[in-house]
Amino acid sequence: MKLVKPITCRKCKGSGTFVRASGMPDNCWPCLGAGVVEGDKPTLAQAKAAQAEHDRIYGALRDLARADKKVTYMINMASDGLYILQAKEPERAAKAIASIQAGHPGVVKALAEYYKANH
Ligand SMILES: [Zn+2]
Repeated sequence: MKLVKPITCRKCKGSGTFVRASGMPDNCWPCLGAGVVEGDKPTLAQAKAAQAEHDRIYGALRDLARADKKVTYMINMASDGLYILQAKEPERAAKAIASIQAGHPGVVKALAEYYKANH
């Protein structure tokens, strides 16, 4: 991960290593051994908001798939399909997301089929 404004990790003071209570050294969390963490608050807030939005969309997609027994088994393919669609065709992905949020059941099958055709 590229940090916008890295600051020294407070937990390990930049060493990247954290010593467990048992005396065993381990990679520091939250810097994951890098010794630096993101220090830019707006970037952090943006990342958090994007993650929450992502969780909402994928959660809604899974709920849609669960609600219709005919497509429930496609849950993972549909999620992966949306993931690929977002990477390859963001404009179509935005439409798919609107359909998910509107609760259109057909979007699960459509995304599963997209996955089969594009992975
Ligand atoms: Zn650290």
